[in-house]
Amino acid sequence: MNQSKYMILGGGMVAGYAAKELVERGMKSGELTILSADNAIPYERPPLSKSFLAGKDDEKSIRINAEEFYGQHGIEVKLSCEVAGVDARQKTVHLQSGEDLGFEKLIVATGAQVKTLTIPGANLGDVYYLRSMEDSKKIRTRAGDAKRAAVIGGGFIAMEVSAVLAQKGIETTMLIREDRIWKQVFTPAMSKFFEDYYSARGVRLVKQTNLTELKGDSAVKSVALEDGRTVGCDMVVAGIGVSPVTEPIANSGMQIANGIVVNEYLETSVPGIHAAGDVANYQDTLFNKRRRVEHWDNAVSQGQYCARALSGERKAFSHVPYFFSDVFDLSYEFWGDPANADQIVERGDLSTSSFSVWWLQQKRVIAAFVMSRPDEERDAATKWIESKQQVSAEKLKGKSSVSDAEESAS
Ligand SMILES: Cc1cc2nc3c(=O)[nH]c(=O)nc-3n(C[C@H](O)[C@H](O)[C@H](O)COP(=O)(O)OP(=O)(O)OC[C@H]3O[C@@H](n4cnc5c(N)ncnc54)[C@H](O)[C@@H]3O)c2cc1C
Repeated sequence: MNQSKYMILGGGMVAGYAAKELVERGMKSGELTILSADNAIPYERPPLSKSFLAGKDDEKSIRINAEEFYGQHGIEVKLSCEVAGVDARQKTVHLQSGEDLGFEKLIVATGAQVKTLTIPGANLGDVYYLRSMEDSKKIRTRAGDAKRAAVIGGGFIAMEVSAVLAQKGIETTMLIREDRIWKQVFTPAMSKFFEDYYSARGVRLVKQTNLTELKGDSAVKSVALEDGRTVGCDMVVAGIGVSPVTEPIANSGMQIANGIVVNEYLETSVPGIHAAGDVANYQDTLFNKRRRVEHWDNAVSQGQYCARALSGERKAFSHVPYFFSDVFDLSYEFWGDPANADQIVERGDLSTSSFSVWWLQQKRVIAAFVMSRPDEERDAATKWIESKQQVSAEKLKGKSSVSDAEESAS
Protein backbone atom coordinates (compact mmCIF):
# COMPACT_ATOMS: atom_id res chain seq x y z
CA MET A 1 0.00 0.00 0.00
CA ASN A 2 1.27 3.47 -0.90
CA GLN A 3 2.05 5.55 2.16
CA SER A 4 2.30 9.38 2.45
CA LYS A 5 3.66 11.47 5.26
CA TYR A 6 1.03 14.13 4.60
CA MET A 7 -2.27 13.65 2.80
CA ILE A 8 -5.01 16.14 1.94
CA LEU A 9 -8.45 14.71 1.24
CA GLY A 10 -9.97 17.23 -1.19
CA GLY A 11 -8.16 19.17 -3.90
CA GLY A 12 -9.80 22.58 -3.54
CA MET A 13 -8.79 25.86 -2.02
CA VAL A 14 -7.55 24.51 1.30
CA ALA A 15 -5.35 22.00 -0.54
CA GLY A 16 -3.87 24.64 -2.88
CA TYR A 17 -2.93 27.01 -0.08
CA ALA A 18 -1.79 24.28 2.33
CA ALA A 19 0.51 22.82 -0.36
CA LYS A 20 2.01 26.25 -1.03
CA GLU A 21 2.65 26.86 2.67
CA LEU A 22 4.17 23.40 3.19
CA VAL A 23 6.57 24.03 0.32
CA GLU A 24 7.51 27.43 1.75
CA ARG A 25 8.21 25.71 5.06
CA GLY A 26 10.65 23.31 3.42
CA MET A 27 8.55 20.17 2.93
CA LYS A 28 10.57 17.46 1.16
CA SER A 29 9.72 16.02 -2.23
CA GLY A 30 7.44 12.96 -2.04
CA GLU A 31 5.90 13.85 1.32
CA LEU A 32 2.48 15.17 0.21
CA THR A 33 -0.39 13.52 -1.67
CA ILE A 34 -3.58 15.40 -2.59
CA LEU A 35 -6.67 13.35 -3.44
CA SER A 36 -9.29 15.21 -5.43
CA ALA A 37 -12.64 14.21 -6.88
CA ASP A 38 -12.27 17.23 -9.19
CA ASN A 39 -10.66 16.90 -12.62
CA ALA A 40 -8.51 20.05 -12.30
CA ILE A 41 -5.62 21.00 -10.03
CA PRO A 42 -6.57 23.34 -7.15
CA TYR A 43 -8.09 26.60 -8.37
CA GLU A 44 -9.70 29.71 -6.91
CA ARG A 45 -13.47 29.32 -6.74
CA PRO A 46 -14.60 32.99 -6.42
CA PRO A 47 -13.90 33.76 -10.14
CA LEU A 48 -16.29 30.94 -11.14
CA SER A 49 -19.24 33.24 -10.51
CA LYS A 50 -17.42 36.42 -11.60
CA SER A 51 -14.55 36.88 -14.08
CA PHE A 52 -14.32 33.22 -15.19
CA LEU A 53 -18.06 33.05 -15.80
CA ALA A 54 -17.88 36.34 -17.65
CA GLY A 55 -15.10 34.91 -19.88
CA LYS A 56 -12.43 37.33 -18.62
CA ASP A 57 -10.38 34.64 -16.82
CA ASP A 58 -9.36 31.20 -18.03
CA GLU A 59 -8.41 27.89 -16.43
CA LYS A 60 -4.75 28.82 -16.16
CA SER A 61 -5.27 32.25 -14.62
CA ILE A 62 -7.38 30.96 -11.72
CA ARG A 63 -5.00 28.20 -10.58
CA ILE A 64 -3.77 28.63 -7.01
CA ASN A 65 -0.34 27.25 -7.97
CA ALA A 66 1.02 26.82 -11.49
CA GLU A 67 0.70 23.34 -12.99
CA GLU A 68 4.49 22.76 -12.73
CA PHE A 69 4.51 23.62 -9.01
CA TYR A 70 3.28 20.18 -7.96
CA GLY A 71 5.81 18.25 -10.07
CA GLN A 72 8.66 20.57 -9.10
CA HIS A 73 8.04 19.93 -5.41
CA GLY A 74 7.27 16.24 -5.66
CA ILE A 75 3.62 16.61 -4.70
CA GLU A 76 1.36 13.89 -6.04
CA VAL A 77 -2.07 15.19 -7.06
CA LYS A 78 -4.51 12.40 -7.85
CA LEU A 79 -7.36 13.91 -9.88
CA SER A 80 -10.80 12.39 -10.49
CA CYS A 81 -9.97 10.33 -7.43
CA GLU A 82 -12.95 9.92 -5.15
CA VAL A 83 -12.39 8.86 -1.57
CA ALA A 84 -15.09 6.50 -0.35
CA GLY A 85 -14.02 6.19 3.28
CA VAL A 86 -11.37 6.86 5.90
CA ASP A 87 -10.12 4.36 8.47
CA ALA A 88 -8.78 6.69 11.12
CA ARG A 89 -7.31 3.95 13.32
CA GLN A 90 -5.46 2.23 10.47
CA LYS A 91 -4.58 5.65 9.00
CA THR A 92 -5.78 4.69 5.54
CA VAL A 93 -8.18 6.13 3.00
CA HIS A 94 -10.24 3.87 0.83
CA LEU A 95 -10.74 5.02 -2.76
CA GLN A 96 -13.86 4.47 -4.82
CA SER A 97 -11.59 2.58 -7.25
CA GLY A 98 -10.95 -0.03 -4.53
CA GLU A 99 -7.38 1.06 -3.75
CA ASP A 100 -6.23 1.86 -0.18
CA LEU A 101 -3.65 4.55 0.61
CA GLY A 102 -1.91 5.17 3.93
CA PHE A 103 -1.06 8.44 5.63
CA GLU A 104 0.74 9.63 8.74
CA LYS A 105 -1.11 12.95 8.97
CA LEU A 106 -4.29 13.91 7.18
CA ILE A 107 -6.12 17.17 6.45
CA VAL A 108 -9.77 16.65 5.53
CA ALA A 109 -10.82 19.46 3.18
CA THR A 110 -13.77 18.08 1.25
CA GLY A 111 -15.54 21.46 1.11
CA ALA A 112 -19.24 21.76 0.46
CA GLN A 113 -21.74 20.55 -2.10
CA VAL A 114 -24.64 22.47 -3.60
CA LYS A 115 -28.17 21.96 -2.38
CA THR A 116 -30.39 20.97 -5.27
CA LEU A 117 -33.99 21.65 -6.21
CA THR A 118 -36.48 18.92 -5.41
CA ILE A 119 -39.54 20.30 -7.23
CA PRO A 120 -41.03 18.60 -10.32
CA GLY A 121 -38.96 19.35 -13.41
CA ALA A 122 -35.74 19.76 -11.45
CA ASN A 123 -34.08 17.14 -13.69
CA LEU A 124 -34.79 18.99 -16.94
CA GLY A 125 -31.91 20.12 -19.12
CA ASP A 126 -30.45 23.63 -18.76
CA VAL A 127 -30.90 23.64 -14.97
CA TYR A 128 -27.53 24.51 -13.47
CA TYR A 129 -25.75 24.69 -10.11
CA LEU A 130 -22.38 26.28 -9.49
CA ARG A 131 -19.57 24.78 -7.46
CA SER A 132 -16.83 23.58 -9.80
CA MET A 133 -14.99 24.91 -12.82
CA GLU A 134 -16.92 22.42 -14.97
CA ASP A 135 -20.20 23.90 -13.66
CA SER A 136 -19.04 27.42 -14.49
CA LYS A 137 -17.99 26.36 -18.01
CA LYS A 138 -21.42 24.80 -18.64
CA ILE A 139 -23.25 27.94 -17.50
CA ARG A 140 -20.91 30.12 -19.56
CA THR A 141 -21.54 28.01 -22.68
CA ARG A 142 -25.31 28.05 -22.27
CA ALA A 143 -25.27 31.77 -21.54
CA GLY A 144 -23.61 32.22 -24.94
CA ASP A 145 -26.94 32.02 -26.73
CA ALA A 146 -29.57 32.24 -23.98
CA LYS A 147 -31.98 35.14 -24.14
CA ARG A 148 -33.70 34.75 -20.76
CA ALA A 149 -32.44 33.33 -17.47
CA ALA A 150 -34.07 32.63 -14.13
CA VAL A 151 -31.71 32.70 -11.17
CA ILE A 152 -33.03 31.09 -8.01
CA GLY A 153 -31.81 32.41 -4.67
CA GLY A 154 -31.12 35.73 -3.00
CA GLY A 155 -27.62 35.15 -1.61
CA PHE A 156 -24.19 35.99 -2.95
CA ILE A 157 -23.95 33.26 -5.60
CA ALA A 158 -27.35 34.20 -7.07
CA MET A 159 -26.41 37.89 -6.92
CA GLU A 160 -23.07 37.35 -8.66
CA VAL A 161 -24.42 35.03 -11.35
CA SER A 162 -27.34 37.39 -12.05
CA ALA A 163 -24.94 40.31 -12.43
CA VAL A 164 -22.79 38.40 -14.95
CA LEU A 165 -25.78 37.14 -16.96
CA ALA A 166 -27.38 40.59 -17.06
CA GLN A 167 -24.09 42.07 -18.28
CA LYS A 168 -24.11 39.52 -21.11
CA GLY A 169 -27.38 41.07 -22.22
CA ILE A 170 -29.53 38.19 -20.95
CA GLU A 171 -32.95 39.13 -19.60
CA THR A 172 -32.43 37.95 -16.01
CA THR A 173 -35.01 37.34 -13.29
CA MET A 174 -33.98 36.62 -9.70
CA LEU A 175 -36.47 34.48 -7.79
CA ILE A 176 -36.06 35.09 -4.08
CA ARG A 177 -37.93 33.26 -1.33
CA GLU A 178 -37.37 36.01 1.28
CA ASP A 179 -38.88 39.50 1.21
CA ARG A 180 -35.54 41.09 0.33
CA ILE A 181 -32.15 40.36 -1.18
CA TRP A 182 -29.62 38.51 1.03
CA LYS A 183 -31.71 38.91 4.15
CA GLN A 184 -29.39 36.67 6.19
CA VAL A 185 -26.55 39.19 5.92
CA PHE A 186 -27.78 42.60 4.76
CA THR A 187 -29.76 45.16 6.77
CA PRO A 188 -33.04 46.28 5.13
CA ALA A 189 -31.31 49.47 3.91
CA MET A 190 -28.47 47.48 2.35
CA SER A 191 -30.92 45.10 0.64
CA LYS A 192 -32.77 48.13 -0.73
CA PHE A 193 -29.54 49.60 -2.10
CA PHE A 194 -28.70 46.36 -3.96
CA GLU A 195 -32.25 45.81 -5.16
CA ASP A 196 -32.32 49.30 -6.68
CA TYR A 197 -28.87 48.76 -8.17
CA TYR A 198 -29.94 45.48 -9.80
CA SER A 199 -33.26 46.86 -11.05
CA ALA A 200 -31.49 49.83 -12.62
CA ARG A 201 -29.30 47.36 -14.53
CA GLY A 202 -32.21 45.39 -15.89
CA VAL A 203 -32.42 42.52 -13.42
CA ARG A 204 -36.00 41.75 -12.46
CA LEU A 205 -36.50 40.72 -8.84
CA VAL A 206 -39.42 38.56 -7.79
CA LYS A 207 -39.44 38.37 -4.00
CA GLN A 208 -41.38 36.29 -1.46
CA THR A 209 -41.89 33.60 -3.98
CA ASN A 210 -41.91 29.82 -3.86
CA LEU A 211 -41.36 27.73 -6.95
CA THR A 212 -43.72 24.87 -7.66
CA GLU A 213 -42.37 23.41 -10.88
CA LEU A 214 -39.84 23.76 -13.68
CA LYS A 215 -41.55 23.25 -17.00
CA GLY A 216 -40.28 22.19 -20.41
CA ASP A 217 -39.97 19.16 -22.67
CA SER A 218 -36.39 18.04 -22.35
CA ALA A 219 -34.97 21.42 -21.37
CA VAL A 220 -36.45 23.98 -18.99
CA LYS A 221 -38.63 26.63 -20.62
CA SER A 222 -40.30 28.26 -17.63
CA VAL A 223 -40.51 28.37 -13.84
CA ALA A 224 -43.95 28.11 -12.26
CA LEU A 225 -44.50 30.11 -9.07
CA GLU A 226 -46.86 29.38 -6.20
CA ASP A 227 -49.01 32.44 -6.96
CA GLY A 228 -49.77 31.11 -10.45
CA ARG A 229 -47.28 33.26 -12.35
CA THR A 230 -44.71 31.74 -14.68
CA VAL A 231 -41.29 33.08 -15.61
CA GLY A 232 -40.13 32.12 -19.09
CA CYS A 233 -36.46 31.17 -19.44
CA ASP A 234 -33.86 29.36 -21.55
CA MET A 235 -31.82 28.44 -18.50
CA VAL A 236 -32.11 28.23 -14.72
CA VAL A 237 -29.24 28.70 -12.29
CA ALA A 238 -29.99 27.78 -8.69
CA GLY A 239 -27.85 29.24 -5.91
CA ILE A 240 -29.76 27.91 -2.93
CA GLY A 241 -26.98 27.11 -0.50
CA VAL A 242 -24.49 24.36 0.21
CA SER A 243 -23.94 21.64 2.78
CA PRO A 244 -20.63 20.25 4.07
CA VAL A 245 -19.26 17.11 2.40
CA THR A 246 -18.92 14.63 5.26
CA GLU A 247 -19.96 11.39 3.54
CA PRO A 248 -16.38 10.17 2.95
CA ILE A 249 -15.59 10.30 6.67
CA ALA A 250 -19.00 9.14 7.91
CA ASN A 251 -17.74 5.93 9.54
CA SER A 252 -14.26 7.11 10.41
CA GLY A 253 -14.85 7.86 14.09
CA MET A 254 -14.43 11.61 13.55
CA GLN A 255 -17.16 13.66 15.23
CA ILE A 256 -19.61 15.15 12.73
CA ALA A 257 -22.16 17.89 13.52
CA ASN A 258 -22.83 20.52 10.86
CA GLY A 259 -19.49 19.57 9.28
CA ILE A 260 -16.49 17.96 10.92
CA VAL A 261 -16.11 19.09 14.51
CA VAL A 262 -12.64 20.48 15.22
CA ASN A 263 -11.19 22.36 18.18
CA GLU A 264 -9.42 25.73 18.12
CA TYR A 265 -6.34 23.95 16.69
CA LEU A 266 -8.49 22.61 13.82
CA GLU A 267 -7.88 19.10 15.16
CA THR A 268 -10.64 16.54 14.69
CA SER A 269 -11.58 14.12 17.45
CA VAL A 270 -8.99 11.71 15.96
CA PRO A 271 -5.30 12.46 16.68
CA GLY A 272 -3.24 13.27 13.57
CA ILE A 273 -6.25 14.39 11.53
CA HIS A 274 -7.14 18.05 10.93
CA ALA A 275 -10.12 19.44 9.04
CA ALA A 276 -10.25 22.84 7.36
CA GLY A 277 -12.30 25.06 5.07
CA ASP A 278 -16.01 24.81 4.29
CA VAL A 279 -16.29 21.39 5.95
CA ALA A 280 -14.79 22.38 9.32
CA ASN A 281 -17.00 23.32 12.25
CA TYR A 282 -14.38 25.01 14.42
CA GLN A 283 -14.20 26.71 17.78
CA ASP A 284 -13.92 30.44 17.06
CA THR A 285 -11.85 31.89 19.88
CA LEU A 286 -12.62 35.52 18.97
CA PHE A 287 -16.40 35.18 19.22
CA ASN A 288 -16.26 32.24 21.59
CA LYS A 289 -18.67 30.11 19.58
CA ARG A 290 -18.68 27.26 17.09
CA ARG A 291 -18.70 28.31 13.50
CA ARG A 292 -18.51 26.84 9.99
CA VAL A 293 -17.53 29.39 7.37
CA GLU A 294 -18.16 28.89 3.65
CA HIS A 295 -15.84 31.62 2.40
CA TRP A 296 -12.56 32.09 0.58
CA ASP A 297 -10.45 33.75 3.27
CA ASN A 298 -11.38 31.07 5.78
CA ALA A 299 -10.26 28.32 3.38
CA VAL A 300 -6.99 30.13 2.64
CA SER A 301 -6.21 30.88 6.30
CA GLN A 302 -7.18 27.43 7.56
CA GLY A 303 -5.21 25.72 4.76
CA GLN A 304 -2.12 27.73 5.70
CA TYR A 305 -2.78 27.12 9.41
CA CYS A 306 -2.96 23.34 8.91
CA ALA A 307 0.31 23.38 6.96
CA ARG A 308 1.96 25.18 9.87
CA ALA A 309 0.40 22.70 12.29
CA LEU A 310 1.80 19.76 10.28
CA SER A 311 5.19 21.45 10.45
CA GLY A 312 4.98 21.37 14.25
CA GLU A 313 3.50 24.78 15.17
CA ARG A 314 0.72 24.78 17.79
CA LYS A 315 -1.07 28.06 18.36
CA ALA A 316 -4.87 28.39 18.42
CA PHE A 317 -6.47 29.46 15.13
CA SER A 318 -7.72 33.02 15.59
CA HIS A 319 -9.32 34.75 12.65
CA VAL A 320 -11.89 37.45 11.93
CA PRO A 321 -14.51 35.87 9.61
CA TYR A 322 -14.30 37.65 6.27
CA PHE A 323 -16.13 37.63 2.97
CA PHE A 324 -15.90 39.63 -0.26
CA SER A 325 -18.02 39.88 -3.37
CA ASP A 326 -17.97 41.65 -6.73
CA VAL A 327 -21.23 42.45 -8.51
CA PHE A 328 -21.52 44.65 -11.61
CA ASP A 329 -18.93 47.38 -10.96
CA LEU A 330 -19.15 47.10 -7.17
CA SER A 331 -16.77 45.36 -4.78
CA TYR A 332 -17.57 45.00 -1.14
CA GLU A 333 -16.18 43.30 1.94
CA PHE A 334 -17.70 42.01 5.14
CA TRP A 335 -15.94 41.17 8.42
CA GLY A 336 -17.07 39.66 11.68
CA ASP A 337 -20.38 38.29 12.90
CA PRO A 338 -23.37 40.62 13.39
CA ALA A 339 -25.56 38.01 15.14
CA ASN A 340 -25.55 39.66 18.60
CA ALA A 341 -25.53 43.31 17.55
CA ASP A 342 -27.61 45.77 19.54
CA GLN A 343 -26.84 48.79 17.34
CA ILE A 344 -26.16 49.38 13.64
CA VAL A 345 -24.33 52.46 12.42
CA GLU A 346 -24.27 53.60 8.79
CA ARG A 347 -21.48 55.77 7.45
CA GLY A 348 -21.48 57.44 4.06
CA ASP A 349 -24.51 57.64 1.80
CA LEU A 350 -26.64 54.55 1.19
CA SER A 351 -28.13 56.08 -1.93
CA THR A 352 -24.65 55.97 -3.51
CA SER A 353 -22.32 53.00 -3.79
CA SER A 354 -19.92 54.38 -1.17
CA PHE A 355 -20.93 53.43 2.34
CA SER A 356 -20.03 51.29 5.30
CA VAL A 357 -22.17 49.65 7.96
CA TRP A 358 -20.97 48.85 11.47
CA TRP A 359 -22.59 46.41 13.91
CA LEU A 360 -21.97 47.11 17.60
CA GLN A 361 -22.64 45.08 20.71
CA GLN A 362 -22.51 47.18 23.87
CA LYS A 363 -20.60 49.80 21.88
CA ARG A 364 -17.97 47.29 20.72
CA VAL A 365 -17.51 46.61 17.01
CA ILE A 366 -18.45 43.04 16.08
CA ALA A 367 -19.01 43.29 12.30
CA ALA A 368 -18.47 45.67 9.40
CA PHE A 369 -19.47 46.02 5.74
CA VAL A 370 -17.32 48.33 3.62
CA MET A 371 -17.85 49.34 -0.02
CA SER A 372 -15.83 51.95 -1.93
CA ARG A 373 -14.61 53.71 1.21
CA PRO A 374 -11.24 55.11 2.26
CA ASP A 375 -8.67 52.46 3.23
CA GLU A 376 -8.78 53.51 6.88
CA GLU A 377 -12.25 51.97 7.15
CA ARG A 378 -11.06 48.60 5.81
CA ASP A 379 -8.08 48.70 8.15
CA ALA A 380 -10.24 49.62 11.14
CA ALA A 381 -12.72 46.79 10.49
CA THR A 382 -10.38 43.85 11.25
CA LYS A 383 -8.43 45.71 13.92
CA TRP A 384 -11.54 46.81 15.82
CA ILE A 385 -13.26 43.41 15.65
CA GLU A 386 -10.08 41.65 16.82
CA SER A 387 -9.53 44.06 19.71
CA LYS A 388 -13.27 44.40 20.53
CA GLN A 389 -12.83 48.17 20.18
CA GLN A 390 -15.37 50.40 21.88
CA VAL A 391 -16.55 53.26 19.65
CA SER A 392 -18.83 56.27 19.75
CA ALA A 393 -21.74 55.59 17.38
CA GLU A 394 -22.29 59.34 16.96
CA LYS A 395 -18.70 59.97 15.86
CA LEU A 396 -18.66 56.88 13.64
CA LYS A 397 -21.69 58.22 11.78
CA GLY A 398 -19.95 61.54 11.18
CA LYS A 399 -17.60 62.68 8.45
CA SER A 400 -14.34 62.79 10.38
CA SER A 401 -11.76 59.98 10.36
CA VAL A 402 -13.01 56.67 11.81
CA SER A 403 -10.18 56.76 14.33
CA ASP A 404 -11.94 59.72 15.99
CA ALA A 405 -14.72 57.31 16.97
CA GLU A 406 -12.45 55.16 19.14
CA GLU A 407 -13.22 55.32 22.84
CA SER A 408 -11.35 53.80 25.71
CA ALA A 409 -13.26 50.98 27.43
CA SER A 410 -15.67 52.21 30.07
C1 LIG B 1 -18.91 29.93 -7.42
C2 LIG B 1 -18.32 30.29 -6.10
C3 LIG B 1 -18.01 31.62 -5.83
C4 LIG B 1 -17.49 31.98 -4.61
N1 LIG B 1 -17.21 33.30 -4.37
C5 LIG B 1 -16.74 33.66 -3.16
C6 LIG B 1 -16.49 35.03 -2.89
O1 LIG B 1 -16.71 35.91 -3.71
N2 LIG B 1 -16.01 35.36 -1.68
C7 LIG B 1 -15.75 34.42 -0.72
O2 LIG B 1 -15.30 34.79 0.38
N3 LIG B 1 -15.98 33.10 -0.95
C8 LIG B 1 -16.46 32.70 -2.14
N4 LIG B 1 -16.71 31.38 -2.40
C9 LIG B 1 -16.46 30.37 -1.35
C10 LIG B 1 -15.05 29.74 -1.40
O3 LIG B 1 -14.68 29.48 -2.72
C11 LIG B 1 -15.06 28.47 -0.58
O4 LIG B 1 -15.27 28.86 0.75
C12 LIG B 1 -13.78 27.66 -0.72
O5 LIG B 1 -13.65 27.15 -2.02
C13 LIG B 1 -13.74 26.51 0.28
O6 LIG B 1 -12.55 25.81 0.11
P1 LIG B 1 -12.44 24.27 0.52
O7 LIG B 1 -11.05 23.83 0.18
O8 LIG B 1 -12.95 24.10 1.89
O9 LIG B 1 -13.47 23.51 -0.42
P2 LIG B 1 -13.46 23.39 -1.99
O10 LIG B 1 -12.69 24.47 -2.62
O11 LIG B 1 -14.87 23.20 -2.41
O12 LIG B 1 -12.67 22.03 -2.26
C14 LIG B 1 -13.19 20.78 -1.86
C15 LIG B 1 -12.49 19.72 -2.64
O13 LIG B 1 -12.80 18.44 -2.10
C16 LIG B 1 -13.01 17.54 -3.17
N5 LIG B 1 -13.78 16.40 -2.67
C17 LIG B 1 -15.01 16.41 -2.12
N6 LIG B 1 -15.37 15.14 -1.80
C18 LIG B 1 -14.35 14.34 -2.15
C19 LIG B 1 -14.12 12.94 -2.07
N7 LIG B 1 -15.03 12.09 -1.60
N8 LIG B 1 -12.93 12.46 -2.53
C20 LIG B 1 -12.00 13.30 -3.04
N9 LIG B 1 -12.17 14.63 -3.12
C21 LIG B 1 -13.33 15.13 -2.68
C22 LIG B 1 -13.69 18.39 -4.21
O14 LIG B 1 -13.61 17.79 -5.48
C23 LIG B 1 -12.86 19.66 -4.11
O15 LIG B 1 -11.70 19.53 -4.87
C24 LIG B 1 -17.25 30.98 -3.63
C25 LIG B 1 -17.58 29.64 -3.89
C26 LIG B 1 -18.11 29.30 -5.12
C27 LIG B 1 -18.46 27.87 -5.40
